[in-house]
Amino acid sequence: MPAKRPPPDFRVGHFDVHNVEEWQGEFASPQNLFAGFDAEDFGSFAAAIPHDYYHPESDSIYAYLQSWLICTDGLTILYDTGAGNDKPRPGIPVFGNLKTPFLDNLSRAGFAPEDIDVVICSHLHIDHVGWNTRLRDGEWVPTFPAARYLMSRIDRDYWDPGVARVQPTETGAQVNAQVFEDSVQPVLDAGLAEFVDDDFEVAPGITLSLAPGHTPGHLVLELDSGGERALFVGDILHHPAQVYRPEWNSVYCEDQEAARKTRRHILQRAADTGARVVPAHFGGAHTVWIDHSDGGFLPRFQADENTTAASTGDKGDE
Ligand SMILES: [Zn+2]
Repeated sequence: MPAKRPPPDFRVGHFDVHNVEEWQGEFASPQNLFAGFDAEDFGSFAAAIPHDYYHPESDSIYAYLQSWLICTDGLTILYDTGAGNDKPRPGIPVFGNLKTPFLDNLSRAGFAPEDIDVVICSHLHIDHVGWNTRLRDGEWVPTFPAARYLMSRIDRDYWDPGVARVQPTETGAQVNAQVFEDSVQPVLDAGLAEFVDDDFEVAPGITLSLAPGHTPGHLVLELDSGGERALFVGDILHHPAQVYRPEWNSVYCEDQEAARKTRRHILQRAADTGARVVPAHFGGAHTVWIDHSDGGFLPRFQADENTTAASTGDKGDE
């Protein structure tokens, strides 16, 4: 068992939040990541994007795979589980047969797999369900044996080859090849899965809401405690460029129109409430705040005095 627990990366009211890194690296050019990319338009704001997120010298988006631990009063939640180790991934070879020290990083944050009470998958894509399972004696078994795994019912129906009525897009099918079989089905077989629809209360102050488009059942997690808020938005936001240009989807968004609508809605909510936004793949400080600007939005990479929810003495209803 891990001995000593380091301080959290940040707090949201009474919730402690720890980042657990799995992988980082140059992932793709903006041209290849964004549907509807416009190089000239990108050039008009690219200089404002920190080097943590974009490397102009190689024209590469810099990305992370990471999980978030959310802890309160004897409850430990793991939000998203990365790509996992040892998994053949012909659809995205960069995430295939990884040998990362993810479980060591979890241990360094002060947690063993047995400590996790709840696993939440924002959606059932290749790089969000990987550590759901690990290889034991040639079989995929749940990594977190004491956890209940919360997943979107809509995403399960969409990606389960035994259930699916609607076919994923060609890109979706390619990217997610074998993923359900080795990273979701073993959790179902072990009886650890619980399916979530919309407006689901995980615990007081922790809500999952449906945010469809990137995948049809994508879930956003909202923390609300002591007058502070955070939105764990998964793949609604891959990159700061999408704050400047919410209409730029990733090429991995299953329903392009719904994804645009959801992104605008989430950005609006973040700007209106002053919530800290926690996207799945952000490097740097890993989180961002959203400001209104001329009918659009701007990213802010550090909390500052303008943040409405923090340190105003507004303690909400607690
Ligand atoms: Zn995704």
